[in-house]
Amino acid sequence: MRIKNFINGEFVEPIGGKYFDNIDPSTGQVFYQVPDSYSEDVAKAVEAAKNAFPQWASTPAAKRSAILMKLSNLIEKNLDRLALSESKDNGKPLKLATTVDIPRARDNFSFFATAILHTENAMHDMGQSGFNYTLRSPLGVVGCISPWNLPLYLFSWKIAPALATGNCVVAKPSEVTPVTAFLLSELCNEAGLPPGVLNIVHGYGHTAGQAIVEHPETKAISFTGGTATGKIIAGIAAQQFKKTSLELGGKNANIIFADCDLEEAIKTSVKSSFANQGQICLCGSRILIHEDIYQDFVEKFIPLVKNLRVGNPQAPDTQIGALVSKPHLEKVLSYIDLARSEGGKVIAGGNRIKLEGPQAGGFYLEPTVIEGLSNTCRTNQEEIFGPVVTLQSFRNDEEALALANGTPYGLSATVWTKNLDRAHRIAANLDVGIVWVNCWLVRDLRTPFGGSKASGMGREGGIYALNFFTEPKNICIKLNP
Ligand code: NDP
Repeated sequence: MRIKNFINGEFVEPIGGKYFDNIDPSTGQVFYQVPDSYSEDVAKAVEAAKNAFPQWASTPAAKRSAILMKLSNLIEKNLDRLALSESKDNGKPLKLATTVDIPRARDNFSFFATAILHTENAMHDMGQSGFNYTLRSPLGVVGCISPWNLPLYLFSWKIAPALATGNCVVAKPSEVTPVTAFLLSELCNEAGLPPGVLNIVHGYGHTAGQAIVEHPETKAISFTGGTATGKIIAGIAAQQFKKTSLELGGKNANIIFADCDLEEAIKTSVKSSFANQGQICLCGSRILIHEDIYQDFVEKFIPLVKNLRVGNPQAPDTQIGALVSKPHLEKVLSYIDLARSEGGKVIAGGNRIKLEGPQAGGFYLEPTVIEGLSNTCRTNQEEIFGPVVTLQSFRNDEEALALANGTPYGLSATVWTKNLDRAHRIAANLDVGIVWVNCWLVRDLRTPFGGSKASGMGREGGIYALNFFTEPKNICIKLNP
């Protein structure tokens, strides 16, 4: 089976006629073939988007909203099919795709479809001498580029606000997980999205992705992915004064204070360490534990980790599926070797798992816990992005903060304490974009989402996304006395 590019409302072959294989990570077998697109395919997509823009931008918000709501409803109607494709494409447990990924893609569309019905324009009053009002207009053609870990969830998190605010989009999902974006393009036609408003070009990042960034007609780039790629994109976009929103990697601290509800902290830490095989940018990959409860934490945490069921992602009782690809599995395994060479002690997992039957060629790895490393070693400084966490102990609040803030990244952190003063003080001093207190991954789509330092630039979500995809224009009216 082959997926196709979606340009001007039509399903088209890549101009060069070339495809590459997309692998089902649960079996290691070919799942689909993906168009190998280049700048000429992107140019066609941009042209279609440019032509569609005047009409889409002038379509009343209520009508744009109705079309996007229809798309949201179609995602709900096709939830099972989309979830199965997501699970096969990415290796994530079907249960996770059914209960989190696809419902969230549905909600992204309904959230932004309704958000545009409730916005206000700013007015700055100058009293007797006049006033200013601010108009916000869509930018034109915008590029949206998303990663493989939460494929439709993150793809829709970008295109929904872009479309809702009246932009036309050229988007590229990760070449590793493009299938649900392709299925979405079928639903766009069914929802009545006019041709050219959303165009999806499949292919590799350094060719198709970079062509979207380089094209002079794309006015903004919303990108989620690795920090190294973000750097390349920022460099190209800066030359053209192009707006960018960059959601990049993380090395998040999960800080467990001695006064916390330890049972709850441990239960949630299993999820924040290993959900989606640890391939969520927000996973807490460095667990920092107060020295008074360190042993207690380890004795209770490790048996739960060892009990996690790793297996066929489509089996209903599977908790940990396959890693997304063979190269990624090899990268994660190389970090476990690195941790050993840096003096780390692997106290759970550490090995590839070979399953039986059709899953024998799949990319499975034991959930892995490592202790005995310094915060400055590479294992604790670089993003691994797999089912691997490290444990470190701390003596006091200051040390916890220094360890938590002591990496180049600044995406998120989790704080476990029953002490309200400590929770506020630590949260305020963490150099990250998102802090969870006594919980993890609780999301309100209105809140600013993004990171500081090497974790990115800009914020997504709610009004932040609506503002990113629009250009403000101030109009000053002078009143005569
Ligand atoms: P990559 O940076 O490798 O790729 C992300 C996307 O960019 C893919 O679609 C990729 O295409 C494309 N791309 C690659 N090179 C270029 C280029 N030169 N120009 C334009 N586009 C390009 O990230 P991964 O897909 O490996 O995703 C994992 C990363 O994403 C992790 O670092 C993770 O932390 C981060 N992430 C951040 C989140 C956040 O909100 N901060 C959320 C989720 C993930 P292709 O796949 O074809 O190479």
